[in-house]
Amino acid sequence: PVEQLPYDPTKKTLVLLGTGWGSTTVLKNLDTTQFNVVVVSPRNYFLFTPLLPSCTVGTIENRSIMEPVRQLMRHKAREVTFYEAECTGIDPETKQLTLKRHTNADVLQSIRERETTAPEDIVKLDYDYLIVGVGGEVNSFNIPGVEEHACFLKEMPDARKIRRKLMDSIERASFSDISEEERDRLLHMVVVGGGPTGIEYAGELHDFLTDDLSQWYPNLSQRVRITLVEALPSVLQAFDKKLIDYTQSTFSENKISILTRTMVKAVQEKEIVVQNADGSRSEVPYGVLVWATGIKTQPLVDRIRERFPLDQSDRRGLLVDEFLRVKGSRDIWALGDCALSGYAPLAQVASQQGKWLARTLNKAARKADEAPGADLFTLVEKSARSFKYSSQGSLAYIGSDKAIADLPLFNRNITAGGLTTFWFWKSAYLNELFSLRNSTLVASDWVKRFLFGRDISRE
Ligand code: NAD
Repeated sequence: PVEQLPYDPTKKTLVLLGTGWGSTTVLKNLDTTQFNVVVVSPRNYFLFTPLLPSCTVGTIENRSIMEPVRQLMRHKAREVTFYEAECTGIDPETKQLTLKRHTNADVLQSIRERETTAPEDIVKLDYDYLIVGVGGEVNSFNIPGVEEHACFLKEMPDARKIRRKLMDSIERASFSDISEEERDRLLHMVVVGGGPTGIEYAGELHDFLTDDLSQWYPNLSQRVRITLVEALPSVLQAFDKKLIDYTQSTFSENKISILTRTMVKAVQEKEIVVQNADGSRSEVPYGVLVWATGIKTQPLVDRIRERFPLDQSDRRGLLVDEFLRVKGSRDIWALGDCALSGYAPLAQVASQQGKWLARTLNKAARKADEAPGADLFTLVEKSARSFKYSSQGSLAYIGSDKAIADLPLFNRNITAGGLTTFWFWKSAYLNELFSLRNSTLVASDWVKRFLFGRDISRE
């Protein structure tokens, strides 16, 4: 079937793919009276990813950092259409997208499994202009066993799975009839990847252990160990050296082991196989394994690239020009982690690109009104200066009420770590949350945790 839209024949149809930082910010800032706007995403909510590690241990409740996309659509000047579906293909000649609609609840899981789809779940959708903001997906580097045994930390189902596995492991370790060796394995929490995601998760896990597990499982909590495995010589490569040292010494105080120059080569059901700094190999038993080694491109991005073989030669993403136009195309923009724009794959970059693109399109569409027949793709050049990213700095939580910050101030880079930075981190995130509703929920979760501790129920 071909989807019929609430359609104004005088307007062009603009399809937005994704509900992450880039696409959602476009939607928030777009003048929807200028287009027939359709949003397509397998996820019907925006997720405030910087606080996802907090959800894995219940510092924050899952729904507090989710904002339904329809909530956002409700406030737009003209009706926006949303389809919960995964875009699986594109034909730039006929300007038609192929969508796979989802009927099961755990949509993101089903995408990962690439299950076969019934023909009635394939839908076609026409577009005039397309914005691709589909992000990336977890990179397992094709290391055997990762997909089967590790937990990722990218989407909300991942955080839910980690919380469940964590409690499962601890409850299993509390049986008296298991061997001491098995108990130690169950209580060994391993994190692979010393980027900000792995570091923040290890920090949250440490807090859960010291604040809550120590009260509920006093005997077991002493035996819980956290190990972070990183292939490079240090963690947090993108941060200032002082902050790396500060993080490493805080982790050491918190008894979190960091194994640098150690690369995971294979993952088995109960142990990982690592290559150590000296080239030897060993097995490390684990109870819960969290895999945070960065992202790679989505299959859709490869399919779009194949359509423009002369201009899209980089396998890491969609090459875009300084106006975020996909090179080789006449009507497609890309932003965020799936676009190669010369900037790092950061939420901040995607969000600034989203704001810039929406405002530029609003201006270009007004210009197009004055000159009927003019091409929007060309008009963007006359409507705005090219996109430039302005870094607001980096922040990361490292556990025990400490955070690190790398901030550009007065043309200098200011680095800070500690309790004050932690409060700055808290207020910055509260401020950045997508809606007043989200900020209120997160603030009340923090108060609840302070008063009653974290919830240790398995689900
Ligand atoms: P990352 O790419 O920053 O770090 C992944 C780490 O995993 C790397 O250091 C890599 O050396 C290591 N690694 C890869 N394969 C390995 C293996 N087999 N064994 C051991 N180690 C291995 O990934 P991330 O932390 O998920 O971040 C992704 C992006 O998002 C980055 O650009 C990051 O800056 C950004 N981010 C920023 C923040 C923040 O600023 N607070 C938070 C989360 C993510």
